[in-house]
Amino acid sequence: MIDASGTWGSPSPVGADGLPAIGERAAADKISYRVPDLTDADNVVRYAGRQVAVLGSGHSALTALVAFAGFAQTHPGTRVRWVLRRGAVGNAFGGGESDQLAARGALGQRAQVAVDAGHVEVVTGFRTSDIERAGDRLVLVSDDGRRLDAVDEVVAVTGFRPDLSWLSEVRLDLDARLQAPVALAPLIDPNVHSCGTVYPHGVKELTHSEAGVFLVGMKSYGRAPTFLALTGYEQVRSVVAAIAGDHQAAERVDLILPETGVCGGAGLFDEPVSDAGAGGCCGVPAPVELTLTASPRD
Ligand SMILES: Cc1cc2nc3c(=O)[nH]c(=O)nc-3n(C[C@H](O)[C@H](O)[C@H](O)COP(=O)(O)OP(=O)(O)OC[C@H]3O[C@@H](n4cnc5c(N)ncnc54)[C@H](O)[C@@H]3O)c2cc1C
Repeated sequence: MIDASGTWGSPSPVGADGLPAIGERAAADKISYRVPDLTDADNVVRYAGRQVAVLGSGHSALTALVAFAGFAQTHPGTRVRWVLRRGAVGNAFGGGESDQLAARGALGQRAQVAVDAGHVEVVTGFRTSDIERAGDRLVLVSDDGRRLDAVDEVVAVTGFRPDLSWLSEVRLDLDARLQAPVALAPLIDPNVHSCGTVYPHGVKELTHSEAGVFLVGMKSYGRAPTFLALTGYEQVRSVVAAIAGDHQAAERVDLILPETGVCGGAGLFDEPVSDAGAGGCCGVPAPVELTLTASPRD
């Protein structure tokens, strides 16, 4: 059985500790967990002239910032606030011209231009714990008590996680942190491979205790955000070769993946306030003490 069902249906919540923020579910009508298509007529009505908070620091967030910055120019009154958990923007814009994927590098550059031009208000070090209603608007509150000015809409692009619910009776060997296969996890752990380099891999790393069961594609990465389609093609080629009995082809992995050209990865860390000189390639960020919210959730 090959599970290639992705993670698209399981977006991460707004709550900074990985659980829904208090009030998040009740505010669902004002939250998008996708980058909105701003050419869609319904979305034009929804977002034109509104104040929007974009949460996240990965490529989806950059895509949203660029889209909203452009949208604001043709729809006056639209304002964008970029809310990051990390203490500084740091390398969230990626590797620019050093990125071996030109489009990925260019995306970061466009987002930086939008921020530098003042089209985007940036809030850093903000770990959302509560979302309060203020009439039709939402107020984001952080776990240290900061309150942001109310916004009309929230776009939460805080990553994805695999839905493993229907695999609960299957013997999977998953890493406790990443929810990726244990042999794969150390190769893709964003806390270790901070330069965006992920080693190609195949059936060997994707094998579980349950014989003949493979998670491939985006789902194989669990919570790691660095997946590229190329990786998935190579995974599937190797797994299918193994199933077909061609073990030589299954073990041969010769894909070379493009690097981001920036240490610290593609917005992977909740860095402390100063991330300048955060170490060389593949350095481990300083530990950050997390406090889980104890209050009951809606
Ligand atoms: C906004 C965004 C932009 C991205 N851009 C890029 C990019 O430019 N380049 C890149 O390489 N990667 C990109 N990625 C990563 C990316 O998602 C993948 O590379 C690719 O789509 C992953 O392929 P996949 O087949 O593993 O999962 P998906 O593309 O998510 O496909 C999973 C499929 O399984 C289906 N499915 C789910 N559950 C079931 C079920 N129970 N039964 C049957 N079918 C089911 C889903 O409907 C879906 O069609 C991006 C991701 C995001 C979120």
